[in-house]
Amino acid sequence: MKYLPIYLFLVCMACNAPKSAVSVTETTVREEVNPVLKPKNVVLLIGDGMGLSQITAGNYFNGNKTALEGFPVIGIHKCHASNKLVTDSAAGATAFACGEKTYNGAIGVRADSTPVQTILEELEDLGYSTGLIATSTIVHATPASFIAHNEYRKNYEDIALDFLDTEVDYFVGGGKKFFDRREDERNLIEELEARDYTVETYLTDFKDCNIPDTGNFAYFSADKDPLPYDQGRDYLLDASKAGLSFLDNHGENGLFLMIEGSQIDWGGHANIPSYVLTEFYEFDLVIQEVLDWAKKDGETLVVVTADHETGGLSIRENSTMDSLDIEFISTHHTATMIPVFAYGPGSELFAGIYENTAIYDKMRKALQLK
Ligand SMILES: [Mg+2]
Ligand SMILES: [Zn+2]
Repeated sequence: MKYLPIYLFLVCMACNAPKSAVSVTETTVREEVNPVLKPKNVVLLIGDGMGLSQITAGNYFNGNKTALEGFPVIGIHKCHASNKLVTDSAAGATAFACGEKTYNGAIGVRADSTPVQTILEELEDLGYSTGLIATSTIVHATPASFIAHNEYRKNYEDIALDFLDTEVDYFVGGGKKFFDRREDERNLIEELEARDYTVETYLTDFKDCNIPDTGNFAYFSADKDPLPYDQGRDYLLDASKAGLSFLDNHGENGLFLMIEGSQIDWGGHANIPSYVLTEFYEFDLVIQEVLDWAKKDGETLVVVTADHETGGLSIRENSTMDSLDIEFISTHHTATMIPVFAYGPGSELFAGIYENTAIYDKMRKALQLK
């Protein structure tokens, strides 16, 4: 003990007292918010075509605020595909779902078109409850890449068949006709019902659906593509809330849910600013809802990103906060790097600049998967 005064003296030399007090407080707060690094649940939100300029425009359109401001960790991903600098949504989502750089058009397959297990399939096998929600058809590139394996994104009827191979517990999106009016004359809705799915369709408003306590649930929001938000589509927020509580009550092992704001991209392709802004507005509400849910839960990692930017959207010089002068340079996607926003246990992993495939690696690392 006779060396203690010297030891204390050296400690005091190394750090001044106020700094040390601050660091103790920070550690305590962090431990209260994040008692464990490993999250129980992961929610991945993908705004299709939601580059930084879409977020910027959406922020001003929304009165200079966005739910994304509530995320403490921000990163950037490089979104190029294996065969093109400008990615499409198939290669982009396959990167997140499978950790593979692949070619444009590829759904859950590698660059050599061999199938590769998705994180949703892996977690379903491990007993997690899993879900997919989109405002496109459910067989469209982004949701499809989490559950299907096909060399070409537009093989919608084949992609629908893959919903019978993985028992995703909850899914919501359009594209009913690819399930019940098919060239092979199979009725996949009946086949899903035989596998313990309660299936509801757009004939019932989402709000009026009876979502069961047990079994699985599917909702077809349209026969083909769902409407844009500004033409009356309004299920994404309700389907996301219901999905979180359904999946949370569905198993002990945690949940994996992918929610896509699909049509931000379509507004970009159409070069219609109001289409982009209203789709972002709705998606922002969903992001806020998920973030609030995760804050209450305390064991949920939330990651928000996009597959790519669409349209080369620019906010021009004469813009004001109340009146945005927006121009596009393209009716296709662009190669600009894409922001990533993370909250919750494991979120620290998402800081920095990395490939789009690293989002898959980081989700798996957070979940401590082998
Ligand atoms: Mg998409
Ligand atoms: Zn697109």
